[in-house]
Amino acid sequence: MPTYIVLLGPPGAGKGTQAQIVSKTLGLPHISSGDIFRENLKNQTSLGVQAKGYMDRGELVPDDLTISMIRDRLSRPDCASGALLDGFPRTVEQAKALAGMLEGFHGAVNAVPYIKVAEQVLIERLTGRWTCRAQGHVFHEMHNPPKLAGVCDHDGSELYQREDDKAETVINRITVYFAQTAPLIEFYQRGGQLLEIDGTQPIDRVTADLLAALAKKV
Ligand code: AMP
Repeated sequence: MPTYIVLLGPPGAGKGTQAQIVSKTLGLPHISSGDIFRENLKNQTSLGVQAKGYMDRGELVPDDLTISMIRDRLSRPDCASGALLDGFPRTVEQAKALAGMLEGFHGAVNAVPYIKVAEQVLIERLTGRWTCRAQGHVFHEMHNPPKLAGVCDHDGSELYQREDDKAETVINRITVYFAQTAPLIEFYQRGGQLLEIDGTQPIDRVTADLLAALAKKV
């Protein structure tokens, strides 16, 4: 039977990093709905053209488009033994559609790790981020400060705050995430698939907890 994992976690919880590790360790393709949309946008496919306006506004692409895109992706041969889903589902409607489509592949969502980090900690993590203009090196006011404030250690270029790392935008992204995912968390909790992982620990501890929790489920 194929193995399907849905990874949940707010912006700043380290979901991307963990997704890469889990995908490699378990040998499952990492399927990020956001990446697929961006790829389609870049190649100006009809899906990309249809999704563009929503993405530009930071809104969700309508369920029918998103669901059929994921169905296509999961039908490909590299997903024969399952997949690690990241960014999908985002709504209960999508979660229900996913359950139906996996039945068709003789599988089900086996586990839903949720990397949990309190809102205040996320805001602190994301708003302290400074990026170098020349090559995109990333620093953090508290966790990884540059030797000289405002200057990149590696190439001496100026450090700036990305538009989406500014406090107001960060708070908005986080609020939207919690509003969107709260019902999903409840949905998977009721299904007995949710695995809560403490995302405030160092990265390697989070990975260890994640893999240990998954080992019991998949
Ligand atoms: P992400 O990189 O996951 O934040 O996704 C970037 C953008 O793609 C989002 O802001 C949405 O416009 C769109 N998107 C990604 N995943 C979904 C989804 N499951 N449902 C609807 N829209 C999505």
